[in-house]
Amino acid sequence: MSFDFHKYVASMPDFPEPGVTFRDITPLIGDGEAYAAATDAIVEYAKSRGGVDAIVGPESRGFIVGGPVAFKLGVGLIPARKAGKLPRKTVKQDYELEYGGTNTLEIHADAIKPGDRVLITDDLLATGGTIAATIKLVEQLGGIVVGTAFLIDLKDLKGREKIADYDVFSLMEY
Ligand code: 5GP
Repeated sequence: MSFDFHKYVASMPDFPEPGVTFRDITPLIGDGEAYAAATDAIVEYAKSRGGVDAIVGPESRGFIVGGPVAFKLGVGLIPARKAGKLPRKTVKQDYELEYGGTNTLEIHADAIKPGDRVLITDDLLATGGTIAATIKLVEQLGGIVVGTAFLIDLKDLKGREKIADYDVFSLMEY
């Protein structure tokens, strides 16, 4: 890959707490060329997985990555939202957060049909808890997760091991 995505990531030591280095992707999405190049790379990945019927992204940066990919592929974007935000019938999944505590994600129960081929997108793979919960939501509705795509994989946190049965694409590793 020729585009140097790393220079569009701001690494912030001790954020959100001491000892954690936060990888801030806002410079990447704030640059039209970098955002388009990242989108194109994920679109190519989706095509390499045999095509998809829908993109599912967890709140909120999963929407930012997945929205333009969905648009370019001509498929819909399904938001996996934090608990209590979606107005109609949902399926729910609890998961553990990287910095402690738990969270719940939901998607609308009619958002995915059995057999739909789904690509899950997010900005970053850390422990894999968020993406594992998102995978479970898709599968509760009978969807097939054909791949997962991230801007960044934080390798030391071993998220790939948590989702070892699924294909993972990332633009960058730290
Ligand atoms: P995981 O569930 O894999 O442990 O954490 C990944 C989730 O937390 C993603 O939804 C991601 O947006 C967020 N996250 C965790 N650490 C970082 C970080 O350093 N930078 C960014 N941009 N997001 C992070």
